[in-house]
Amino acid sequence: MSVFGLLRNLLPYVMPYRWLIGITIALTFVGSLMAQVNAVVLDRAVDAINALLQQEGGFLWSHAARILVTISCILLGKEVVASLVTFFQRYFGERLRILVSRDLSLRVVSRILSFRMAFFSADGNETGKLQSRIDRGIMSLSNTVNNFFIEILPLFTSAVLALILMFAANVYVGLVALCIVPLYFWVTNIQAKRMKGGRRSIFASHQSVSQGILNIIESITVIKSFNREQIEADRQAAIQDGLTGQQLSTRRQSFMFNGLKSFLEQIGTVLIIILTAYLVLIDYPGMSIGKIMYHVMLFANVSAPIRQLHRIYDDLNDALIYAEGFFGILQADNEVEDTGSYRPESVRGDFVMQNVDFTYSNGTKALTDVCLTIPNGKITALVGLSGAGKSTVVNLLDKFYHPQSGSITLDGTSLSDWDTQWLRDHVGLVLQKNHIFDGTIEENIRYGNPHATHEDVIAAARQAYLYDQVVALPSGFQTSALQLSGGQQQRVAIARMFIKNPPIIFLDEPTASLDAIATEQIKASIDAIKRGRTVIIISHNIGQIIDADQIYVLQQGRVVQSGTPDEVYRQGGVYKDIFDASARSMNADKIAQTMG
Ligand code: ADP
Repeated sequence: MSVFGLLRNLLPYVMPYRWLIGITIALTFVGSLMAQVNAVVLDRAVDAINALLQQEGGFLWSHAARILVTISCILLGKEVVASLVTFFQRYFGERLRILVSRDLSLRVVSRILSFRMAFFSADGNETGKLQSRIDRGIMSLSNTVNNFFIEILPLFTSAVLALILMFAANVYVGLVALCIVPLYFWVTNIQAKRMKGGRRSIFASHQSVSQGILNIIESITVIKSFNREQIEADRQAAIQDGLTGQQLSTRRQSFMFNGLKSFLEQIGTVLIIILTAYLVLIDYPGMSIGKIMYHVMLFANVSAPIRQLHRIYDDLNDALIYAEGFFGILQADNEVEDTGSYRPESVRGDFVMQNVDFTYSNGTKALTDVCLTIPNGKITALVGLSGAGKSTVVNLLDKFYHPQSGSITLDGTSLSDWDTQWLRDHVGLVLQKNHIFDGTIEENIRYGNPHATHEDVIAAARQAYLYDQVVALPSGFQTSALQLSGGQQQRVAIARMFIKNPPIIFLDEPTASLDAIATEQIKASIDAIKRGRTVIIISHNIGQIIDADQIYVLQQGRVVQSGTPDEVYRQGGVYKDIFDASARSMNADKIAQTMG
């Protein structure tokens, strides 16, 4: 991204604070004028004292005292004004930074919430990487805004003013000062170009470090149970080593260039001293001893921003790199979930999938030519080995992803024409591993319907066979849901679905983490609510499958069998294999003997 692009992208976030910017710019101008006062005062003071010394027969102390008092008053007065200006300038600049940072955060959150699922499973969008892109993007962009108003603008205004004053006093000195400036820019530009690659790889490594730490925390149980602490530590060490090497090499280059630039600056100062001294010596009109000091001090103001130039360049380069990643998120319009406008009064729940092909963004072809009819009022089970594409079917029916070809209709209307939020308002989704939010059990259940009363929460908990267990806890429904066991959390998720009371229910291995008694209870609840609803269940539990009204058997993304459980079993094939293997693994014969 170019500097121009960066500014154009930032503009909408700064414009709401026009008045703040206006005041800051006005203060900047006053501050820049103040910065020249020392040079002017010193010029006059040196000349006045010099004139005093040249007086025949000595000078009067009262004259000298008047000069000194005047200098002191001007310098101290200027300092008071300059301090006030700096205070307000910094305060307003910081205020702007904080406000812009808040707006950027809010914007990125609302964007992320609007993205479709494919965005989150795309390469480079892993949680840690996204987090790092967002954090660093916001920090770096809001710093750019702050730097611009607190550092860049004042320094450059002051430099321009100082140059004008130098020209006004003497064109030759002004020209020398002006000629040196491009040299600094040139060196800084080379430095920036050399270091750009390094900074980019540091940025990438930072992302990997964040992702790595996140992975460790997420998989800590597995790491510990396999005693793989050392392997994980070594993996992190390798990433950190790379990062350290890159950081050291960038720093080394940076110090080298800074040395070179300091040297150039000194050459500039020396040239100004030599030239002004020469002009004084040849008695050039308008040149006096005071002017030597005057020009040296003004030149310091000209070169001050240049001394900061590399830092500004670095910050700006960081901002350019981070801005790419950050605005990439904000502008990923193709990632926003599409929605239609179809919002029927009532949703029946008859799905038809015809010749659907679907490939994930990483190239995995998950479904091929899939045709399914899922009617209302029936339980449809999707059966197949892991990776057969069962969850993908549910993902497509809930509009989390869109098929590349084929059609999906709900109640006769193409799914793409449905208002996505309306559709999801009518769908209850229970997954094998459901997310439990940091909050109480009641809050977690109410997530399914924010308008539900406490009585509704209790009723849902009863349906999910959770009530008795919750009331036995010391804090009851106010207990933190994160403290519940895996099976209990699963019941919270099921209660969340009951409280939502949707006409369409997708259950993706809902009882996989439940014990036998709970599985039976939940099965009874699901059977009770299936009337008048569309239920799709994905399960490895043969007991649940044989109770379904119809089943579809998937194998490597294709529908290979369909019909009632009995019909399909009689056909033989994959379903019979899975069924028989399940019965054998359950030791069905022995169970029958024991029970008999
Ligand atoms: P099942 O539910 O039958 O176990 P899935 O529908 O989850 O199978 O997966 C079908 C195929 O799609 C698998 O090969 C799986 O690796 C792949 N897959 C599933 N989810 C994603 C995803 N988010 N990104 C890429 N590939 C995926």
